[in-house]
Amino acid sequence: MNSSVTDRIIPGRFAGKRAMVTGGSRGIGAAVARRLGAEGALVAIAYRSRGHEAEEIASEIATAGGRAFAVQADIGQPGAIDALFAAWDETATRIAGDDRLDILVNNAGIASAAPLSEIYEHAFDRIFAINTKGPAFVSQQAVRRMTQGGRIVTIGSGAAKQPGALNGAYGMSKAALLAMTRSLAVELGQHGITANVVAPGYTRTDMTAHMLAEPRFVERLEQITALRRIGEPEDIAAVVCFLASDDGGWLTGQWIEATGGYKLVP
Ligand code: NDP
Repeated sequence: MNSSVTDRIIPGRFAGKRAMVTGGSRGIGAAVARRLGAEGALVAIAYRSRGHEAEEIASEIATAGGRAFAVQADIGQPGAIDALFAAWDETATRIAGDDRLDILVNNAGIASAAPLSEIYEHAFDRIFAINTKGPAFVSQQAVRRMTQGGRIVTIGSGAAKQPGALNGAYGMSKAALLAMTRSLAVELGQHGITANVVAPGYTRTDMTAHMLAEPRFVERLEQITALRRIGEPEDIAAVVCFLASDDGGWLTGQWIEATGGYKLVP
C-alpha cells in the first residue's frame, strides 16, 4: 500500500496553528510545508536562494484555501535568524493578529562532499553553521514565540550514526542534533513544548539526485530496504506532521529513523 498524498491529508488537523519550515523551498521541507498548509496551518516557508519556488508553494497553499508566505534567510549567516524572525513577527501579526508560533520544522541542511581527513576548515564551518548552529538558534527564537506549547521537529540523518566516506562532517553536524533536541526537550517540556528528530534514509530530492541517478545504486538500496523502495519527501513529511500534531504530543527527546527499514534486509 502506498496511498497518494492527497488521500493521506487529514483536513483541519493544523487549523489555527502557525508553523515555520526552514528549507521549505525544495525537497523534504517543501513536502512538509505543503502538508502543513493543506491541513490548515499558517506556514512560513523559509528559503535561502529559491524564492521563486517558495513563493509558488505559498501560492499553491493559498489557492487551496490555506495561508502561507515565503521568507528569505540564509540561516548560516550572522544576523539572518534575527531577520527571519523579524519577518515572521511582522507577517504573522498582520495575517493572524500576533507573533505566536506553534510548530518549527528545522529542515534546512547541506551535505558535505569531502572526506573528513581532507575537508577545508571553511567548508566544515559552513556545514556546522547551517546544520547545527542554525537549528539551535532558530529554535531559540522560535520557543520565545511558543506561548501556547509547541512542537520542534528537526531533520537529522542516518549519517549521524553511519557516515559514509564523504560525509563525515555532515554526519558530525547531524549527530549533534540529538543533544540539541534532548536539551530542548528537557528545558521546555514544562511549557508543553516537545522536541524530536526525524532521521530520514535516502530520500529522492536534489540532495541525493546525483546518487539516485545511478540505477545499480538504487537497485542495491531497494534490495536492503524492508519496504523495497527509495523514500519520497512525502514519506518524511508524514512522520514530521505526526510529530507536529496533537497526536505526537507524548513523544519528546526522540530520534526517529524514517527509512522504510533501510539495511534491515540481510
Ligand atoms: P535539498 O537539497 O533538496 O533542499 C535543501 C533545502 O534547504 C532547500 O530548501 C534550501 O533552500 C535549504 N537550505 C540550504 N542551505 C540553507 C541555508 N544556508 N539557509 C537556509 N536554507 C537553506 O535537501 P533535502 O530536502 O534532501 O534535505 C532536507 C533535510 O533533510 C536536510 O537537513 C538534509 O540534511 C536532510 N536529509 C536528507 C536526506 C535525503 O536523502 N534527501 C537524508 C537524510 C537527511 P534553497 O532551495 O532556497 O536553496
